[in-house]
Amino acid sequence: MNDKLTPETISEYYEKKFPMKKFMSFIGLSEFKNREFGFVVGNNRFIRNLSFQNTDHLREFMVENSVKDAYVGAVFDQPPSRENPIQKIKWKFRELIFDLDIDEYDAYVDGGEKGEKQYVGVRSCGCRDDEYCDECWSLIQDAAIFIDQTMKEDFGYKNITWIFSGRRGVHGWVREKEPIEFDRNQRRAILDYLTFIHDPTRTQSIEDIPSEAKPLRNRIYSLIAKSYLVRSTAKELNEFGISLNKAREIIKEVKAREEFDHNRYNILIPDNKQVRKKLSSEIIRKRYPRIDRKVTMDTNRVSRMPYSVHGKTGQIAIIIKDLRKFYPVSTPTIWDSLK
Ligand SMILES: [Zn+2]
Repeated sequence: MNDKLTPETISEYYEKKFPMKKFMSFIGLSEFKNREFGFVVGNNRFIRNLSFQNTDHLREFMVENSVKDAYVGAVFDQPPSRENPIQKIKWKFRELIFDLDIDEYDAYVDGGEKGEKQYVGVRSCGCRDDEYCDECWSLIQDAAIFIDQTMKEDFGYKNITWIFSGRRGVHGWVREKEPIEFDRNQRRAILDYLTFIHDPTRTQSIEDIPSEAKPLRNRIYSLIAKSYLVRSTAKELNEFGISLNKAREIIKEVKAREEFDHNRYNILIPDNKQVRKKLSSEIIRKRYPRIDRKVTMDTNRVSRMPYSVHGKTGQIAIIIKDLRKFYPVSTPTIWDSLK
């Protein structure tokens, strides 16, 4: 990003281009006055416990303060304010939110002789932290599609919308009556189902998934295992004890198939307990969705406001129409919008 994000540019965006109507239809008109907002203003000061009487006041605030980052939080039984902070008033609801960030797939350990950190993450493309390419972005796409399908098919929620975070990830908002009223423990239960892997080393294999999570397991084969296998080389599969010829056959077949499932996986992968366990653990370690649990569980957290500008990148937190086709690089920036 070469252009500098100035306060003037930000104010101009919120005055002329920020689509207030679209934003309002996204969060819903109900109890707007009781909704918490938070902003990064001035010299990177983060303020929250703000609420607004109407959308004109909200827009005015964003324009006058040239807000660097804008966040929207939960709804309470009265308007949050500095005198009436959210800890003192009664919580009513907040959308169920899933946060996916590409740097969750990085990890470092103390390594080399010179004391430098050694990379033990799963991004073999070479991207680190905020960087991404089409290859590693597919981790986020798969994770979002996986959660989207799980919410719809296993929980019956239809209304889930994905928003670009403005930098290196996406947020999934479930906006239905039942889940928005869920407390922390109910949100944790959903997470426990979605992230059956409690083991931080992520060595659990697909075979260990309990039978009550069968739909989830099937989805792992059709999406996560498929994604892993189409990206593998015969040499890589050979390291799990699969012969090179067999490995070539597996990759060829998975690539040719539109639909992939549990049965197909079982037929293709050699019937050897050790091989299967090692391979399926690796599939989970490399490609299983990595959800920021804190974000989903914390009912008081504020999240980036849809259509707002990311203060570091200048990119707009747009609503994603098609997860499979969405790449951050194609997102409009504040400068595109003001042209
Ligand atoms: Zn990459």
